[in-house]
Amino acid sequence: MKLNTAALRYLTSEDWRVLAAVEQGSKNHEVVPTPLITQIAGLRGGSGVHKCISSLAKVGLIAKVKNAKWISSDDGYRLTYGGLDYLALNTHRRSNTLYSLGNQIGVGKESDIYITASSTGRQQVLKLHRLGRISFRSVKANRDYLRNRSTGSWLYLSRLAAQKEFAVMKVLWREGFAVPEPIAWSRHTVVMEFVDAFPLRMVESVPVDKVGGLYAELMDVIVRLAQRGLIHGDFNEFNILIKEEEQPSTASTSSTNDSASATPNTNITLRPILIDFPQTISTSHANAAMYFDRDVACIKRYFERRFKYTSDEEGPFFRDAVKGYEKLTREERLDVEVEASGFSRKMGRELERFVEPKLPGGNEHGRGEEGDGGEDSEDEEDEVEEVDTGLREDGEQAEDPQVDDPKLAEEVGGLS
Ligand code: ADP
Ligand code: MG
Repeated sequence: MKLNTAALRYLTSEDWRVLAAVEQGSKNHEVVPTPLITQIAGLRGGSGVHKCISSLAKVGLIAKVKNAKWISSDDGYRLTYGGLDYLALNTHRRSNTLYSLGNQIGVGKESDIYITASSTGRQQVLKLHRLGRISFRSVKANRDYLRNRSTGSWLYLSRLAAQKEFAVMKVLWREGFAVPEPIAWSRHTVVMEFVDAFPLRMVESVPVDKVGGLYAELMDVIVRLAQRGLIHGDFNEFNILIKEEEQPSTASTSSTNDSASATPNTNITLRPILIDFPQTISTSHANAAMYFDRDVACIKRYFERRFKYTSDEEGPFFRDAVKGYEKLTREERLDVEVEASGFSRKMGRELERFVEPKLPGGNEHGRGEEGDGGEDSEDEEDEVEEVDTGLREDGEQAEDPQVDDPKLAEEVGGLS
């Protein structure tokens, strides 16, 4: 689904108020009845609300749900991804995080990536999580379950994905791991630093004298993450950006035989930057060792196939990586810190059912293997029931828009 901002500048302050009311109502209602929208919006004169509702529905920000079984006399509405996009953009706009929206640079399996600019002209990335859009990574039961429960659940899970991604990136950034700087999150979106680099997948060749170093560095990242309690869970060629940093080669003695990819007299450093964290897990996860091994195997296989590089060393091994973990203080355990940041264990469990780390051989674009659903056991049904259809706000960093500003429509006009 495209992010269509065409209507953004035409929404009136009443429209925004009604849109926010539908979101608010969604917290407790899968379908928000019209009288409730009117009540939450707090606008006088029912006809005004109806006008707003119909214009929001016309541009697809809310969708009418007819014959909702639990209510006979009235129609209801639900928020769409488009409506959620607008609310999130509005929040980022109002907090001065985001000034203008540029091109779409990526379409992940379950996200859309846009270039944006801050009010100071800094380039940033806006990642909109879109769970449930294309793929269902694992469990059929979940798919049916969620299909029956309307899109509200997907909106909620997309929000969890964004919240988690932001929380993980924040601790990693602070600890000096090479990740884009996380800037803000709201609802299902994360704003982060734009990294001017291509994914490893797009790197045609690596100079022969660099390939071993790059491989070693990637393994080192996997190990350093695990030492601090985290496993990326989807450590593959799409989620590693390779920044080529050229350094003056005055004192360089290194030579290369790879004429196709190395420029004489330059010393290029290949710096990997890790992205995409909704599936990151703790090293205390029951299947942690398997996910760790999978991340390692993924890189091994990719280097063998693509760069014809095979390391002489075995491993790294999970048991070695986590050896020192028990000695860490609470503050040094990043998995603990992510939980403490507001992304609770329960939220993690809810999300994990749908954003499962992929299997080796799988990839971003659906050509790989499907998840095996191996973790889907009968006794987890109860956990499914806990999945909220509403859109919660626990710990959300950016403020929800209080749509009380008559100038709002103009302000948002800055986004184009
Ligand atoms: P998904 O969860 O859909 O795989 P990703 O976070 O992996 O989403 O992003 C998809 C693609 O968008 C990446 O492969 C990369 O090309 C691009 N991308 C994502 N984040 C950034 C960023 N901060 N800077 C530059 N490019 C990015
Ligand atoms: Mg990705």
